[in-house]
Order: sequence, then structure tokens, then C-alpha cells
Amino acid sequence: MSGHLHHSGHDYGALVEGWKAVCEGSGLDLGVFCEINGLPVLKITNGAASARDPGGLYVSAGVHGDECAPVWALLEWAASKPEILRDRPVTLFPCLNPVGLVENTRRDGNGVDLNRSFTDVSQPVIAAWQEALEGCRFDVSVNLHEDYDATGIYLYELTRGESKGDRLLDACSIHLPRETAAVIDGSDFTNGLLVRTSGIEEVVAEQLGGGYPEAILLFLKYAAVSYTFETPSEADLSRRIAAHRTFLDSLFGPSV
Ligand SMILES: [Zn+2]
Repeated sequence: MSGHLHHSGHDYGALVEGWKAVCEGSGLDLGVFCEINGLPVLKITNGAASARDPGGLYVSAGVHGDECAPVWALLEWAASKPEILRDRPVTLFPCLNPVGLVENTRRDGNGVDLNRSFTDVSQPVIAAWQEALEGCRFDVSVNLHEDYDATGIYLYELTRGESKGDRLLDACSIHLPRETAAVIDGSDFTNGLLVRTSGIEEVVAEQLGGGYPEAILLFLKYAAVSYTFETPSEADLSRRIAAHRTFLDSLFGPSV
């Protein structure tokens, strides 16, 4: 039943139970790295990640609570037991803003957009996140998001190497079309793709009011390549979940 849910997309209890089931007997370790308003914020790692082995992967979802497809796609992907979860160090943050998910709001329970606050350690979840990542280096980081203004899928790719973005978007376009807008949130896109290799600090200062998104801080401090994949949140939920799942399968599958 790929891509279909039998409960609300905002049922955080079901998400936590789903991760418990996936982690049981799989070699994945389920940790609660922080609690917000009594809700556990989860961090999933495997043994190689705990040992700080090189070559790590990072994936997070649910930093914006009104974007629910990514959290279910990440769970579904992990449940499919991709080989990479055994072969490489893996760190997953299944839902960084559980209060927002429950309330179906972009911001957290205090009105904070966490995705402009990743250097703000006065936010408990950010302080705990920074502590959890201390000393980590990732080959690839992925942030899964949605956009209610978009009509298609799109991708921010921050990289120090060769771009894979076009191939990844092509793979996902079996579920939803690529975004055709030339400008998204003030940045120039080509067929749903924006690749940046430099000038990242300028983007933060000029377009984001000095607020650091997760993907940018990851690229500057922790990861060689940083992807932010977006689906249009007004589209059919099962197709949005399928698109995120295909993004992960394509990026972390044997063919890429
Ligand atoms: Zn978002």
C-alpha cells in the first residue's frame, strides 16, 4: 500500500509507533534526543553512525508541521529496509517539529519558524540538535519539505561536486510534474532545480533575514552535499508521499 495512510497525516502517535516498529530488530536505534511540550523528538541512528564512521547520510523531515507527506515517506522508506541503512552510517530525524505536525502549522507551538532558527540555541530543539550533531560529517544531507504555493516538485541542491539534481527530479516526476515557475521564494529555478555551490552566506543575509535553514547550516558545517526536496502540498497526499519516497530511493539506491 505504498503512499496510502490509514490515519491522519498529522497523527504523531502513529508516527512514533511506526518508527518503533521499524527499528525493532532492524539494527536501527531509536533515540529521544529532546522533548517538546511532552512530545518525544526522535533521532534514529545505526551502529556505524554512533561510531562516527565516515561516509554518513542524514535525512530529516517535519521541521514544518503543515508539510506532512515527508514524515510518512521517510518512515515508509526506512520500513522498506534499503541496504544503505546497513551499509553506511545513517542519522535520521523523523519529525523535528512534532507540535507543528499535530497542529498542522508551519511554525512550532511558540510561533517560531524553526527552519530559520538553526543557529538559535535558545530553541531547545535546536540546542539538542546541535549537540546531537557535534563532530558529525555527512556525505549527503536531505531535508524533505512541501510548499503550498507550488504546482510541481522542486529541489535545492547545495553541492561541492557534480550535480545530480536533474536526474533525481526526473525520477520523481513519474508521480508529480516538475515545477515550471522560473522564480520560487525569490530564487531562480530551471525546470524545478536550483544548484548552488557558493554565496550561501549571502543568501541567508539577503533573502532569509539572517535566519539559518537546516539545509544551509548542514552544508556549511556538516555535509558535503545538501538537498532540499519539495512537493506541492495541495496535490494528492499519496502522490506526494510517493514522490518523496522515490527521491530517497533514487538518491540512496544502488543505481546512483
Ligand atoms: Zn517547509
